[in-house]
Amino acid sequence: MTATLFNYSYTPATGKSTHATPPPVRRIVIVGGGTAGWMTALIFARALIERGVEITVLESPTVPIIGVGEGSTPWLRGFFDSLGIEEAEWMPACQATYKCGITFKDWSTRPGFEHYFHPFASMLDNLTMTQFVHNVEARVKGANVSAHPDRFFIATRLAAERRAPKAASSFPFDIWHGYHFDATLLGQFLHRKALERGVRYESCHVTHATLDAQGAIASVSTREGATISADLFVDCTGFAGLLIDKALHTPFVSFADNLFNDAAVALPTPIEESIPSETVSTALKAGWVWKIPLTSRYGNGYVFSTRFCSPDEAETELRGHLGLLDADVEARHLKMKIGRVTQHWNKNCLAIGLSQGFIEPLEATALLFIQQTAASFVEFLGKADLSEAAHERFNREVNAHFEGTRDYIVTHYKTNTRKDTEYWRANAANLALSDDLKTLYSLWMTGQSIAAGVKQQAIGKGYPVFSWYAIMAGMGIFPDPKDLRAPTAQEARYNLEEIDDLIVRSAVNYPDHRSALERIAPRRVDPSLQIYFW
Ligand SMILES: Cc1cc2nc3c(=O)[nH]c(=O)nc-3n(C[C@H](O)[C@H](O)[C@H](O)COP(=O)(O)OP(=O)(O)OC[C@H]3O[C@@H](n4cnc5c(N)ncnc54)[C@H](O)[C@@H]3O)c2cc1C
Repeated sequence: MTATLFNYSYTPATGKSTHATPPPVRRIVIVGGGTAGWMTALIFARALIERGVEITVLESPTVPIIGVGEGSTPWLRGFFDSLGIEEAEWMPACQATYKCGITFKDWSTRPGFEHYFHPFASMLDNLTMTQFVHNVEARVKGANVSAHPDRFFIATRLAAERRAPKAASSFPFDIWHGYHFDATLLGQFLHRKALERGVRYESCHVTHATLDAQGAIASVSTREGATISADLFVDCTGFAGLLIDKALHTPFVSFADNLFNDAAVALPTPIEESIPSETVSTALKAGWVWKIPLTSRYGNGYVFSTRFCSPDEAETELRGHLGLLDADVEARHLKMKIGRVTQHWNKNCLAIGLSQGFIEPLEATALLFIQQTAASFVEFLGKADLSEAAHERFNREVNAHFEGTRDYIVTHYKTNTRKDTEYWRANAANLALSDDLKTLYSLWMTGQSIAAGVKQQAIGKGYPVFSWYAIMAGMGIFPDPKDLRAPTAQEARYNLEEIDDLIVRSAVNYPDHRSALERIAPRRVDPSLQIYFW
Protein backbone atom coordinates (compact mmCIF):
# COMPACT_ATOMS: atom_id res chain seq x y z
CA MET A 1 0.00 0.00 0.00
CA THR A 2 1.09 3.47 -0.43
CA ALA A 3 -0.20 5.50 2.47
CA THR A 4 -2.63 4.02 4.89
CA LEU A 5 -3.91 6.48 7.37
CA PHE A 6 -3.85 5.06 10.84
CA ASN A 7 -2.61 8.29 12.28
CA TYR A 8 -1.45 11.50 10.73
CA SER A 9 2.19 11.61 11.67
CA TYR A 10 5.03 9.31 10.71
CA THR A 11 6.37 9.60 14.23
CA PRO A 12 5.94 6.15 15.69
CA ALA A 13 4.30 5.43 18.99
CA THR A 14 7.00 4.47 21.44
CA GLY A 15 5.40 1.12 22.18
CA LYS A 16 6.43 1.66 25.79
CA SER A 17 3.70 1.27 28.34
CA THR A 18 3.34 4.05 30.85
CA HIS A 19 1.48 1.79 33.29
CA ALA A 20 3.21 0.89 36.52
CA THR A 21 1.14 -2.23 37.25
CA PRO A 22 2.51 -5.57 36.06
CA PRO A 23 1.14 -6.64 32.67
CA PRO A 24 -1.72 -9.13 32.84
CA VAL A 25 0.25 -11.73 30.90
CA ARG A 26 3.62 -13.00 32.09
CA ARG A 27 4.49 -15.56 29.44
CA ILE A 28 3.99 -15.09 25.71
CA VAL A 29 4.67 -17.79 23.15
CA ILE A 30 4.85 -16.77 19.49
CA VAL A 31 4.51 -19.71 17.12
CA GLY A 32 6.20 -18.89 13.79
CA GLY A 33 9.50 -17.26 12.85
CA GLY A 34 8.55 -15.44 9.64
CA THR A 35 8.47 -11.66 9.32
CA ALA A 36 5.29 -11.60 11.42
CA GLY A 37 6.82 -13.64 14.26
CA TRP A 38 9.97 -11.55 14.53
CA MET A 39 8.33 -8.14 14.06
CA THR A 40 5.83 -9.07 16.77
CA ALA A 41 8.60 -10.35 19.04
CA LEU A 42 10.51 -7.06 18.71
CA ILE A 43 7.45 -4.85 19.27
CA PHE A 44 6.48 -6.90 22.32
CA ALA A 45 10.06 -7.05 23.60
CA ARG A 46 10.40 -3.28 23.55
CA ALA A 47 7.28 -2.78 25.58
CA LEU A 48 7.22 -5.82 27.82
CA ILE A 49 10.55 -7.49 28.54
CA GLU A 50 11.71 -4.87 31.00
CA ARG A 51 8.38 -5.36 32.78
CA GLY A 52 9.23 -9.00 33.39
CA VAL A 53 7.32 -10.62 30.54
CA GLU A 54 8.97 -13.67 28.98
CA ILE A 55 8.68 -13.88 25.18
CA THR A 56 9.55 -17.04 23.27
CA VAL A 57 9.44 -17.67 19.52
CA LEU A 58 8.92 -21.26 18.37
CA GLU A 59 9.84 -21.94 14.76
CA SER A 60 9.52 -25.14 12.79
CA PRO A 61 12.84 -26.43 11.44
CA THR A 62 10.97 -27.96 8.49
CA VAL A 63 8.33 -25.39 7.42
CA PRO A 64 9.99 -22.55 5.48
CA ILE A 65 8.84 -18.94 5.69
CA ILE A 66 6.82 -17.68 2.71
CA GLY A 67 9.89 -15.75 1.52
CA VAL A 68 8.05 -13.08 -0.47
CA GLY A 69 6.80 -9.70 0.71
CA GLU A 70 9.52 -7.34 -0.35
CA GLY A 71 7.82 -3.95 -0.53
CA SER A 72 6.65 -1.79 2.35
CA THR A 73 4.63 1.26 3.22
CA PRO A 74 6.29 4.23 4.96
CA TRP A 75 5.13 2.84 8.28
CA LEU A 76 8.03 0.40 8.28
CA ARG A 77 10.22 3.43 8.91
CA GLY A 78 8.26 4.00 12.12
CA PHE A 79 8.86 0.36 13.09
CA PHE A 80 12.65 0.67 12.84
CA ASP A 81 12.67 4.15 14.37
CA SER A 82 10.69 2.97 17.38
CA LEU A 83 13.25 0.20 17.90
CA GLY A 84 16.18 2.60 17.48
CA ILE A 85 17.53 0.68 14.48
CA GLU A 86 19.20 2.90 11.90
CA GLU A 87 18.76 2.52 8.14
CA ALA A 88 22.56 2.38 7.90
CA GLU A 89 22.44 -0.87 9.88
CA TRP A 90 19.42 -2.75 8.54
CA MET A 91 19.20 -1.64 4.90
CA PRO A 92 22.58 -3.03 3.69
CA ALA A 93 21.96 -6.22 5.69
CA CYS A 94 18.67 -6.73 3.81
CA GLN A 95 19.85 -5.47 0.38
CA ALA A 96 17.18 -2.81 0.83
CA THR A 97 16.33 0.16 -1.37
CA TYR A 98 14.16 3.23 -0.93
CA LYS A 99 10.62 3.38 -2.30
CA CYS A 100 8.96 6.67 -3.33
CA GLY A 101 5.68 4.97 -4.30
CA ILE A 102 4.19 2.71 -6.94
CA THR A 103 3.73 3.13 -10.69
CA PHE A 104 0.55 1.47 -11.97
CA LYS A 105 0.94 0.63 -15.63
CA ASP A 106 -1.63 -0.61 -18.14
CA TRP A 107 -4.52 -0.76 -15.66
CA SER A 108 -6.40 1.91 -17.59
CA THR A 109 -6.75 2.22 -21.35
CA ARG A 110 -8.07 5.80 -21.20
CA PRO A 111 -5.81 7.95 -23.42
CA GLY A 112 -3.30 9.84 -21.29
CA PHE A 113 -4.00 7.67 -18.24
CA GLU A 114 -2.25 4.42 -19.25
CA HIS A 115 -0.01 4.81 -16.21
CA TYR A 116 0.18 6.88 -13.07
CA PHE A 117 2.19 7.04 -9.88
CA HIS A 118 0.73 6.62 -6.38
CA PRO A 119 3.24 8.68 -4.37
CA PHE A 120 4.17 8.68 -0.74
CA ALA A 121 3.50 12.11 0.68
CA SER A 122 6.12 14.77 1.13
CA MET A 123 6.17 17.98 3.13
CA LEU A 124 6.63 19.74 -0.22
CA ASP A 125 3.28 18.39 -1.39
CA ASN A 126 1.64 20.86 0.97
CA LEU A 127 2.51 23.44 -1.70
CA THR A 128 0.76 21.56 -4.52
CA MET A 129 -2.00 19.49 -2.92
CA THR A 130 -4.64 22.23 -3.01
CA GLN A 131 -3.99 22.77 -6.72
CA PHE A 132 -4.19 19.02 -7.40
CA VAL A 133 -7.51 18.56 -5.62
CA HIS A 134 -8.87 21.76 -7.20
CA ASN A 135 -7.95 20.67 -10.73
CA VAL A 136 -9.25 17.13 -10.26
CA GLU A 137 -12.57 18.44 -8.98
CA ALA A 138 -12.81 20.90 -11.87
CA ARG A 139 -12.15 18.13 -14.41
CA VAL A 140 -14.68 15.82 -12.75
CA LYS A 141 -17.17 18.63 -13.32
CA GLY A 142 -16.23 18.75 -17.02
CA ALA A 143 -13.56 21.49 -17.18
CA ASN A 144 -10.64 20.76 -19.48
CA VAL A 145 -7.81 21.30 -16.99
CA SER A 146 -4.73 19.18 -16.35
CA ALA A 147 -5.48 16.72 -13.53
CA HIS A 148 -3.16 13.76 -13.96
CA PRO A 149 -1.57 13.13 -10.54
CA ASP A 150 1.93 12.68 -11.96
CA ARG A 151 2.30 16.43 -12.40
CA PHE A 152 1.70 17.39 -8.78
CA PHE A 153 3.95 15.33 -6.51
CA ILE A 154 7.67 15.52 -5.87
CA ALA A 155 7.89 11.76 -5.15
CA THR A 156 6.73 11.05 -8.71
CA ARG A 157 9.58 13.09 -10.11
CA LEU A 158 12.13 11.46 -7.79
CA ALA A 159 11.02 8.00 -8.90
CA ALA A 160 11.08 9.01 -12.58
CA GLU A 161 14.67 10.26 -12.14
CA ARG A 162 15.75 7.31 -9.94
CA ARG A 163 16.56 9.58 -7.02
CA ALA A 164 16.46 8.66 -3.33
CA PRO A 165 13.84 10.29 -1.09
CA LYS A 166 16.65 11.60 1.14
CA ALA A 167 17.22 15.30 0.63
CA ALA A 168 20.55 17.05 0.97
CA SER A 169 20.95 18.54 4.46
CA SER A 170 20.47 22.06 3.06
CA PHE A 171 16.96 21.12 1.88
CA PRO A 172 14.92 20.13 4.94
CA PHE A 173 11.86 18.62 3.26
CA ASP A 174 11.17 15.10 4.36
CA ILE A 175 9.60 12.55 2.06
CA TRP A 176 7.47 9.90 3.62
CA HIS A 177 9.19 6.94 1.96
CA GLY A 178 8.89 3.17 2.11
CA TYR A 179 11.41 0.43 1.36
CA HIS A 180 12.10 -2.66 -0.70
CA PHE A 181 14.10 -5.49 0.90
CA ASP A 182 14.96 -9.17 0.64
CA ALA A 183 12.31 -10.94 2.74
CA THR A 184 14.57 -13.78 3.86
CA LEU A 185 17.39 -11.43 4.88
CA LEU A 186 14.93 -9.20 6.73
CA GLY A 187 13.68 -12.24 8.68
CA GLN A 188 17.24 -13.17 9.62
CA PHE A 189 18.05 -9.60 10.64
CA LEU A 190 14.96 -9.30 12.84
CA HIS A 191 15.69 -12.72 14.36
CA ARG A 192 19.19 -11.59 15.41
CA LYS A 193 17.88 -8.30 16.82
CA ALA A 194 15.14 -10.01 18.79
CA LEU A 195 17.62 -12.41 20.42
CA GLU A 196 19.87 -9.47 21.30
CA ARG A 197 16.88 -7.86 23.03
CA GLY A 198 16.06 -10.81 25.21
CA VAL A 199 13.57 -12.82 23.15
CA ARG A 200 13.97 -16.59 23.60
CA TYR A 201 13.98 -18.96 20.66
CA GLU A 202 13.31 -22.64 20.12
CA SER A 203 13.53 -24.50 16.88
CA CYS A 204 10.67 -27.00 17.15
CA HIS A 205 7.65 -28.12 15.17
CA VAL A 206 4.32 -27.56 16.90
CA THR A 207 2.03 -30.54 16.33
CA HIS A 208 -1.05 -29.62 18.32
CA ALA A 209 -2.63 -27.36 20.91
CA THR A 210 -4.42 -28.42 24.06
CA LEU A 211 -7.43 -26.34 25.08
CA ASP A 212 -8.58 -25.66 28.66
CA ALA A 213 -12.14 -25.92 29.97
CA GLN A 214 -12.95 -22.41 28.67
CA GLY A 215 -11.72 -23.30 25.19
CA ALA A 216 -8.56 -21.17 25.50
CA ILE A 217 -5.14 -22.57 24.57
CA ALA A 218 -3.51 -24.18 27.62
CA SER A 219 -0.36 -25.43 25.87
CA VAL A 220 1.18 -26.43 22.58
CA SER A 221 3.02 -29.70 22.03
CA THR A 222 5.98 -30.19 19.75
CA ARG A 223 7.28 -33.03 17.60
CA GLU A 224 10.45 -32.85 19.69
CA GLY A 225 8.44 -33.94 22.74
CA ALA A 226 7.93 -30.69 24.68
CA THR A 227 4.68 -29.29 26.05
CA ILE A 228 4.81 -25.50 26.31
CA SER A 229 2.28 -23.42 28.21
CA ALA A 230 1.78 -19.65 28.20
CA ASP A 231 -0.70 -16.93 29.15
CA LEU A 232 -0.86 -15.67 25.57
CA PHE A 233 -0.20 -17.53 22.32
CA VAL A 234 0.51 -15.58 19.17
CA ASP A 235 -0.23 -17.37 15.92
CA CYS A 236 2.40 -16.31 13.36
CA THR A 237 2.27 -19.57 11.41
CA GLY A 238 1.33 -17.89 8.13
CA PHE A 239 -1.50 -19.21 5.94
CA ALA A 240 -1.49 -22.43 8.04
CA GLY A 241 -3.20 -20.57 10.90
CA LEU A 242 -2.25 -23.37 13.25
CA LEU A 243 -3.72 -21.85 16.40
CA ILE A 244 -6.30 -19.28 15.30
CA ASP A 245 -7.85 -21.58 12.70
CA LYS A 246 -6.90 -25.23 13.29
CA ALA A 247 -7.08 -25.08 17.12
CA LEU A 248 -9.73 -22.40 17.75
CA HIS A 249 -11.73 -22.64 14.50
CA THR A 250 -12.07 -18.86 14.27
CA PRO A 251 -14.39 -18.04 11.33
CA PHE A 252 -12.75 -16.60 8.21
CA VAL A 253 -14.31 -13.90 6.00
CA SER A 254 -13.21 -14.44 2.42
CA PHE A 255 -12.73 -11.40 0.15
CA ALA A 256 -12.82 -13.60 -2.96
CA ASP A 257 -16.03 -12.03 -4.27
CA ASN A 258 -14.25 -8.75 -5.00
CA LEU A 259 -10.55 -9.64 -4.98
CA PHE A 260 -10.19 -12.49 -7.44
CA ASN A 261 -6.44 -13.18 -7.23
CA ASP A 262 -5.47 -16.31 -5.32
CA ALA A 263 -2.01 -17.27 -6.60
CA ALA A 264 1.35 -15.85 -7.56
CA VAL A 265 4.44 -16.91 -9.42
CA ALA A 266 7.76 -15.20 -8.69
CA LEU A 267 11.07 -14.93 -10.59
CA PRO A 268 14.22 -12.85 -9.96
CA THR A 269 16.01 -10.85 -12.67
CA PRO A 270 19.34 -8.98 -12.55
CA ILE A 271 19.37 -5.36 -11.38
CA GLU A 272 20.96 -2.67 -13.55
CA GLU A 273 23.65 -0.20 -12.58
CA SER A 274 21.02 2.45 -11.92
CA ILE A 275 18.46 1.41 -9.27
CA PRO A 276 14.83 2.58 -9.45
CA SER A 277 13.24 4.02 -6.29
CA GLU A 278 9.74 2.73 -7.00
CA THR A 279 7.74 -0.46 -7.33
CA VAL A 280 6.20 -0.96 -10.75
CA SER A 281 2.90 -2.80 -10.95
CA THR A 282 1.97 -3.73 -14.52
CA ALA A 283 -1.39 -5.24 -15.41
CA LEU A 284 -1.17 -8.47 -17.42
CA LYS A 285 -3.96 -10.74 -18.76
CA ALA A 286 -5.22 -12.24 -15.50
CA GLY A 287 -3.67 -10.04 -12.84
CA TRP A 288 -0.63 -7.87 -12.42
CA VAL A 289 3.12 -8.22 -12.01
CA TRP A 290 5.29 -6.51 -9.43
CA LYS A 291 8.81 -5.33 -10.16
CA ILE A 292 10.72 -4.58 -6.98
CA PRO A 293 14.32 -3.33 -7.08
CA LEU A 294 16.81 -4.52 -4.46
CA THR A 295 20.52 -3.72 -4.45
CA SER A 296 21.23 -7.30 -5.60
CA ARG A 297 18.36 -8.16 -7.98
CA TYR A 298 14.82 -7.39 -9.07
CA GLY A 299 12.03 -9.40 -7.49
CA ASN A 300 9.23 -9.98 -9.99
CA GLY A 301 5.96 -11.75 -9.37
CA TYR A 302 2.72 -12.27 -11.25
CA VAL A 303 -0.32 -12.17 -8.95
CA PHE A 304 -3.23 -13.81 -10.74
CA SER A 305 -6.56 -15.54 -10.40
CA THR A 306 -6.70 -19.30 -10.98
CA ARG A 307 -10.35 -18.87 -12.01
CA PHE A 308 -9.09 -17.16 -15.16
CA CYS A 309 -5.60 -18.54 -15.76
CA SER A 310 -3.68 -21.73 -14.84
CA PRO A 311 -0.35 -21.51 -12.97
CA ASP A 312 1.45 -22.77 -16.11
CA GLU A 313 -0.17 -20.10 -18.28
CA ALA A 314 0.74 -17.47 -15.70
CA GLU A 315 4.36 -18.59 -15.59
CA THR A 316 4.60 -18.50 -19.38
CA GLU A 317 3.06 -15.04 -19.51
CA LEU A 318 5.41 -13.79 -16.77
CA ARG A 319 8.45 -15.26 -18.53
CA GLY A 320 7.36 -13.60 -21.77
CA HIS A 321 6.85 -10.29 -19.98
CA LEU A 322 10.35 -10.48 -18.47
CA GLY A 323 12.04 -11.78 -21.63
CA LEU A 324 12.88 -15.05 -19.85
CA LEU A 325 11.05 -17.58 -22.03
CA ASP A 326 14.22 -19.57 -22.69
CA ALA A 327 16.08 -18.70 -19.48
CA ASP A 328 17.01 -21.34 -16.96
CA VAL A 329 15.66 -19.46 -13.92
CA GLU A 330 13.38 -21.36 -11.60
CA ALA A 331 9.98 -19.87 -10.81
CA ARG A 332 8.31 -20.12 -7.40
CA HIS A 333 4.56 -20.75 -7.29
CA LEU A 334 2.52 -19.61 -4.29
CA LYS A 335 -1.10 -19.83 -3.25
CA MET A 336 -2.85 -16.97 -1.44
CA LYS A 337 -5.86 -16.97 0.86
CA ILE A 338 -7.53 -13.57 0.62
CA GLY A 339 -9.66 -12.33 3.49
CA ARG A 340 -9.43 -12.06 7.26
CA VAL A 341 -10.39 -13.90 10.42
CA THR A 342 -13.35 -12.49 12.32
CA GLN A 343 -11.42 -12.35 15.60
CA HIS A 344 -7.73 -11.51 15.43
CA TRP A 345 -7.71 -11.81 19.23
CA ASN A 346 -9.69 -14.89 20.18
CA LYS A 347 -9.56 -15.99 23.83
CA ASN A 348 -5.83 -16.08 24.70
CA CYS A 349 -4.71 -16.31 21.08
CA LEU A 350 -3.64 -13.40 18.93
CA ALA A 351 -3.23 -13.91 15.18
CA ILE A 352 -0.63 -11.74 13.46
CA GLY A 353 0.57 -11.86 9.86
CA LEU A 354 -0.81 -14.14 7.17
CA SER A 355 -2.60 -16.19 9.85
CA GLN A 356 -4.88 -13.21 10.56
CA GLY A 357 -5.58 -12.44 6.90
CA PHE A 358 -4.17 -11.08 3.70
CA ILE A 359 -5.46 -8.58 1.12
CA GLU A 360 -3.11 -9.47 -1.74
CA PRO A 361 0.13 -7.54 -2.21
CA LEU A 362 -0.95 -4.76 -4.60
CA GLU A 363 -0.29 -1.93 -2.13
CA ALA A 364 2.25 -3.87 -0.01
CA THR A 365 0.19 -3.51 3.14
CA ALA A 366 0.84 -6.78 4.95
CA LEU A 367 3.79 -5.70 7.11
CA LEU A 368 1.79 -2.67 8.14
CA PHE A 369 -0.98 -4.92 9.42
CA ILE A 370 1.59 -6.90 11.41
CA GLN A 371 2.99 -3.72 12.91
CA GLN A 372 -0.39 -2.21 13.66
CA THR A 373 -1.88 -5.36 15.16
CA ALA A 374 1.11 -5.96 17.44
CA ALA A 375 1.45 -2.29 18.52
CA SER A 376 -2.27 -1.96 19.13
CA PHE A 377 -2.25 -5.13 21.25
CA VAL A 378 0.55 -3.69 23.39
CA GLU A 379 -1.67 -0.69 24.06
CA PHE A 380 -4.55 -2.94 25.06
CA LEU A 381 -2.23 -4.89 27.38
CA GLY A 382 -1.07 -1.58 28.83
CA LYS A 383 -4.63 -0.96 29.97
CA ALA A 384 -4.62 -4.39 31.64
CA ASP A 385 -8.07 -5.06 30.23
CA LEU A 386 -8.44 -8.54 28.77
CA SER A 387 -12.23 -8.53 29.00
CA GLU A 388 -14.61 -9.68 26.28
CA ALA A 389 -15.41 -6.02 25.61
CA ALA A 390 -11.70 -5.31 25.05
CA HIS A 391 -11.49 -8.27 22.66
CA GLU A 392 -14.46 -6.88 20.73
CA ARG A 393 -13.04 -3.36 20.54
CA PHE A 394 -9.68 -4.65 19.38
CA ASN A 395 -11.18 -6.91 16.72
CA ARG A 396 -13.47 -4.15 15.49
CA GLU A 397 -10.47 -1.84 15.00
CA VAL A 398 -8.34 -4.41 13.18
CA ASN A 399 -11.27 -5.47 11.00
CA ALA A 400 -11.91 -1.83 10.05
CA HIS A 401 -8.27 -1.53 8.91
CA PHE A 402 -8.71 -4.63 6.76
CA GLU A 403 -11.98 -3.43 5.21
CA GLY A 404 -10.67 0.06 4.45
CA THR A 405 -7.54 -1.26 2.78
CA ARG A 406 -9.57 -3.85 0.87
CA ASP A 407 -11.82 -1.10 -0.52
CA TYR A 408 -8.87 0.91 -1.77
CA ILE A 409 -7.38 -2.14 -3.46
CA VAL A 410 -10.74 -3.13 -4.96
CA THR A 411 -10.81 0.35 -6.56
CA HIS A 412 -7.75 -0.50 -8.66
CA TYR A 413 -9.68 -3.37 -10.21
CA LYS A 414 -13.13 -1.84 -10.37
CA THR A 415 -11.96 1.25 -12.25
CA ASN A 416 -9.97 -0.66 -14.90
CA THR A 417 -11.03 -0.20 -18.52
CA ARG A 418 -9.22 -3.12 -20.11
CA LYS A 419 -11.42 -5.19 -22.37
CA ASP A 420 -8.83 -7.74 -23.49
CA THR A 421 -9.70 -10.62 -21.15
CA GLU A 422 -12.64 -12.00 -19.21
CA TYR A 423 -10.65 -11.35 -16.01
CA TRP A 424 -10.58 -7.57 -16.53
CA ARG A 425 -14.16 -7.41 -17.79
CA ALA A 426 -15.34 -9.35 -14.70
CA ASN A 427 -13.43 -6.97 -12.42
CA ALA A 428 -14.98 -3.91 -14.03
CA ALA A 429 -18.46 -5.44 -13.87
CA ASN A 430 -18.09 -6.58 -10.27
CA LEU A 431 -20.88 -5.24 -8.06
CA ALA A 432 -19.71 -6.79 -4.79
CA LEU A 433 -18.73 -3.46 -3.27
CA SER A 434 -19.00 -2.19 0.28
CA ASP A 435 -21.61 0.50 0.99
CA ASP A 436 -18.77 2.87 1.82
CA LEU A 437 -17.22 2.38 -1.59
CA LYS A 438 -20.57 2.75 -3.36
CA THR A 439 -21.07 6.10 -1.63
CA LEU A 440 -17.60 7.29 -2.58
CA TYR A 441 -18.02 6.29 -6.25
CA SER A 442 -21.46 7.82 -6.44
CA LEU A 443 -20.23 11.16 -5.06
CA TRP A 444 -17.37 11.15 -7.56
CA MET A 445 -19.50 10.22 -10.56
CA THR A 446 -22.00 12.96 -9.76
CA GLY A 447 -19.27 15.59 -9.56
CA GLN A 448 -19.39 16.02 -5.78
CA SER A 449 -16.26 16.41 -3.70
CA ILE A 450 -15.15 13.39 -1.66
CA ALA A 451 -12.48 15.41 0.16
CA ALA A 452 -14.48 16.28 3.28
CA GLY A 453 -15.85 12.75 3.71
CA VAL A 454 -12.42 11.16 3.35
CA LYS A 455 -10.80 13.75 5.59
CA GLN A 456 -13.27 12.91 8.33
CA GLN A 457 -12.82 9.22 7.48
CA ALA A 458 -16.56 8.85 6.97
CA ILE A 459 -15.80 7.29 3.56
CA GLY A 460 -12.65 5.90 1.96
CA LYS A 461 -11.40 4.79 5.35
CA GLY A 462 -7.74 4.04 5.88
CA TYR A 463 -6.38 6.22 3.06
CA PRO A 464 -5.81 9.98 2.91
CA VAL A 465 -7.52 12.35 0.48
CA PHE A 466 -4.56 12.58 -1.89
CA SER A 467 -4.45 8.78 -2.28
CA TRP A 468 -8.12 8.65 -3.28
CA TYR A 469 -7.67 11.54 -5.70
CA ALA A 470 -4.49 9.92 -7.06
CA ILE A 471 -6.20 6.62 -7.81
CA MET A 472 -9.40 8.04 -9.30
CA ALA A 473 -7.61 10.73 -11.31
CA GLY A 474 -4.72 8.41 -12.19
CA MET A 475 -7.14 5.89 -13.68
CA GLY A 476 -8.75 8.76 -15.61
CA ILE A 477 -12.20 8.64 -13.98
CA PHE A 478 -13.30 11.88 -15.63
CA PRO A 479 -15.91 12.82 -18.24
CA ASP A 480 -15.08 11.65 -21.74
CA PRO A 481 -12.50 14.05 -23.31
CA LYS A 482 -14.95 14.93 -26.11
CA ASP A 483 -17.41 16.20 -23.48
CA LEU A 484 -14.93 18.48 -21.69
CA ARG A 485 -15.52 22.23 -21.93
CA ALA A 486 -13.17 25.20 -21.59
CA PRO A 487 -12.53 25.93 -17.89
CA THR A 488 -13.83 29.05 -16.22
CA ALA A 489 -11.27 31.55 -14.92
CA GLN A 490 -11.82 30.19 -11.41
CA GLU A 491 -11.30 26.60 -12.57
CA ALA A 492 -8.13 27.54 -14.46
CA ARG A 493 -6.71 29.66 -11.67
CA TYR A 494 -3.59 27.60 -11.00
CA ASN A 495 -0.55 27.92 -13.17
CA LEU A 496 0.70 24.40 -13.83
CA GLU A 497 4.04 25.63 -15.18
CA GLU A 498 4.79 27.06 -11.73
CA ILE A 499 4.15 23.65 -10.17
CA ASP A 500 6.34 21.94 -12.78
CA ASP A 501 9.07 24.44 -12.04
CA LEU A 502 8.81 23.99 -8.25
CA ILE A 503 9.06 20.23 -8.59
CA VAL A 504 11.93 20.27 -11.06
CA ARG A 505 13.90 22.72 -8.89
CA SER A 506 13.18 20.73 -5.71
CA ALA A 507 14.07 17.33 -7.16
CA VAL A 508 17.71 18.26 -7.75
CA ASN A 509 18.18 18.36 -3.97
CA TYR A 510 17.68 14.60 -3.78
CA PRO A 511 20.62 12.33 -4.67
CA ASP A 512 20.88 9.55 -7.20
CA HIS A 513 19.35 6.44 -5.62
CA ARG A 514 22.33 4.10 -5.99
CA SER A 515 24.76 6.70 -4.60
CA ALA A 516 22.46 7.30 -1.64
CA LEU A 517 22.33 3.55 -0.95
CA GLU A 518 26.11 3.37 -0.98
CA ARG A 519 26.30 6.07 1.73
CA ILE A 520 23.27 5.71 3.95
CA ALA A 521 23.35 8.56 6.42
CA PRO A 522 22.22 8.37 10.04
CA ARG A 523 18.73 9.65 10.60
CA ARG A 524 18.65 13.40 11.02
CA VAL A 525 15.09 14.54 10.35
CA ASP A 526 13.37 15.99 13.35
CA PRO A 527 10.75 13.34 14.21
CA SER A 528 8.42 16.02 15.52
CA LEU A 529 8.00 17.34 11.97
CA GLN A 530 4.71 16.22 10.61
CA ILE A 531 3.65 15.46 7.10
CA TYR A 532 0.42 17.29 6.51
CA PHE A 533 -2.07 14.98 4.85
CA TRP A 534 -4.80 16.24 2.68
C1 LIG B 1 2.77 -13.33 -3.38
C2 LIG B 1 2.91 -12.52 -2.13
C3 LIG B 1 3.50 -11.26 -2.20
C4 LIG B 1 3.60 -10.47 -1.04
N1 LIG B 1 4.12 -9.21 -1.13
C5 LIG B 1 4.12 -8.42 -0.03
C6 LIG B 1 4.64 -7.10 -0.08
O1 LIG B 1 5.10 -6.62 -1.10
N2 LIG B 1 4.62 -6.38 1.06
C7 LIG B 1 4.13 -6.86 2.23
O2 LIG B 1 4.10 -6.14 3.24
N3 LIG B 1 3.70 -8.13 2.31
C8 LIG B 1 3.68 -8.91 1.22
N4 LIG B 1 3.24 -10.20 1.32
C9 LIG B 1 2.87 -10.72 2.63
C10 LIG B 1 4.13 -11.08 3.41
O3 LIG B 1 4.90 -12.01 2.68
C11 LIG B 1 3.77 -11.65 4.77
O4 LIG B 1 2.83 -10.84 5.39
C12 LIG B 1 4.98 -11.73 5.66
O5 LIG B 1 6.03 -12.41 5.02
C13 LIG B 1 4.65 -12.40 6.96
O6 LIG B 1 4.42 -13.77 6.79
P1 LIG B 1 4.18 -14.62 8.08
O7 LIG B 1 5.31 -14.43 9.00
O8 LIG B 1 2.81 -14.35 8.57
O9 LIG B 1 4.17 -16.12 7.53
P2 LIG B 1 5.38 -17.06 7.02
O10 LIG B 1 6.47 -16.33 6.38
O11 LIG B 1 4.70 -18.13 6.22
O12 LIG B 1 5.96 -17.70 8.35
C14 LIG B 1 5.32 -18.76 9.01
C15 LIG B 1 6.22 -19.26 10.12
O13 LIG B 1 5.49 -20.22 10.87
C16 LIG B 1 6.32 -21.33 11.12
N5 LIG B 1 5.49 -22.51 11.29
C17 LIG B 1 4.55 -22.99 10.46
N6 LIG B 1 4.04 -24.14 10.96
C18 LIG B 1 4.68 -24.35 12.14
C19 LIG B 1 4.62 -25.37 13.12
N7 LIG B 1 3.81 -26.40 12.97
N8 LIG B 1 5.40 -25.28 14.20
C20 LIG B 1 6.25 -24.23 14.37
N9 LIG B 1 6.35 -23.23 13.47
C21 LIG B 1 5.58 -23.31 12.37
C22 LIG B 1 7.22 -21.43 9.89
O14 LIG B 1 8.39 -22.18 10.18
C23 LIG B 1 7.49 -19.94 9.63
O15 LIG B 1 8.59 -19.57 10.45
C24 LIG B 1 3.14 -10.99 0.19
C25 LIG B 1 2.60 -12.27 0.26
C26 LIG B 1 2.47 -13.03 -0.89
C27 LIG B 1 1.84 -14.39 -0.80
